[in-house]
Amino acid sequence: MKLTSQMIKDRAKELGIDDIGIGNIERFDNAPPLMNIRNYFPGVKSVIAVLMRIPRGSYRGIEEGTHWHNYTFYSYNRLNTVIRPRLTYELSRFIEDFGWEATPHYPGVPERNPASEPVAPGKLPPNIIPSIRLIAAGTGVGEIGHSKVFLNKKFGPRLRLGLIFTDAELEPDPILDTGDICSHCGACVRECPGNAIPPVRDLDNRVEIDYGEKKVYYGNVHMGRCTLTHHGMNNEISPFLKKSFPNMGFDVRNSQMTEEEAYRLCYPMATAQWWNIFNDNPNNSVTEYYDYVMKHVGYFAICGARGCIRACMNSLEKSKRIENTFHNQFYHKKSWLLPNQPDNADETLNPFRDKYLDKNYPGVRKNEDFKSSGK
Ligand code: SF4
Ligand code: SF4
Repeated sequence: MKLTSQMIKDRAKELGIDDIGIGNIERFDNAPPLMNIRNYFPGVKSVIAVLMRIPRGSYRGIEEGTHWHNYTFYSYNRLNTVIRPRLTYELSRFIEDFGWEATPHYPGVPERNPASEPVAPGKLPPNIIPSIRLIAAGTGVGEIGHSKVFLNKKFGPRLRLGLIFTDAELEPDPILDTGDICSHCGACVRECPGNAIPPVRDLDNRVEIDYGEKKVYYGNVHMGRCTLTHHGMNNEISPFLKKSFPNMGFDVRNSQMTEEEAYRLCYPMATAQWWNIFNDNPNNSVTEYYDYVMKHVGYFAICGARGCIRACMNSLEKSKRIENTFHNQFYHKKSWLLPNQPDNADETLNPFRDKYLDKNYPGVRKNEDFKSSGK
């Protein structure tokens, strides 16, 4: 029996997939070799992007500044690693029931690909990872917004994506134009606590993608600053960092660290341990909350996409550029930000020791001065 795009869309709806888009493989011919789908599935004819929404309510705790790990759990890690992949798998099974091969693709991070040797002379290294957003934009399921976050007509920026590659030749959906959803309002730029998104009028700071039949563009986001902020190294959005580093005032907004450097700082820091008898933290984790979430969920998202998703969805809801709107507006008051610099810098060598002793043995530090060496 013939398999059509409409049959795949109907099945996706039955499965509970929120939206899909279908693109023909020729649209991705300009992709670099290590991101090119043809180099991983030579007979591929069509690409399907699978889209699942992030519940708006999963941002509530972070927006109020009162609860964090719901977002990491439901909107990031488990949505990307359990909830959406299960449906991508089901849709792949449906396609293969018609005799067409279907490759469900787990979205990796192309720029973190390790280098490995090819399996045979003339072959490429076994590290081909297509870019999920660039491929999805070529299926017409949405556009890459100015913030580099993917936008969909129903859910705006509240979504996660998956891909299926197939040798079935399917009717493609049209590619959206830049600006079909993104209004270039600049809300993401203004509200990004990492100063990671360039001004909308900065024409020199755009990335252009050529799909053959259409070119699109988006802002050249500073991924080092975003990664530092997203992974909790920015005091402005983390109530947790100051507890561990009360005197740190790292200027993320002007950092020039690359994305990889930021990962190398943030991840080891999140799980690091340091022997310290003066805290009330039984496992000696350096950044207690990050370690806790990493152990529970295997990931930690601290910024909660303050600019690129929260401010963006509010803008798109208010301007009625997206379909999934709500009875109540998202913001009830201005979104909070914390100061970066410490209120009063500690001059002691070990503030954790001092607090511990002052609390448990008042007066025992009389005449102590650990400010200078030799005492
Ligand atoms: S907030 Fe959203 S709609 Fe506005 S410029 Fe940024 S990505 Fe585009
Ligand atoms: S995740 Fe946070 S730091 Fe990164 S672009 Fe979005 S708002 Fe900016």
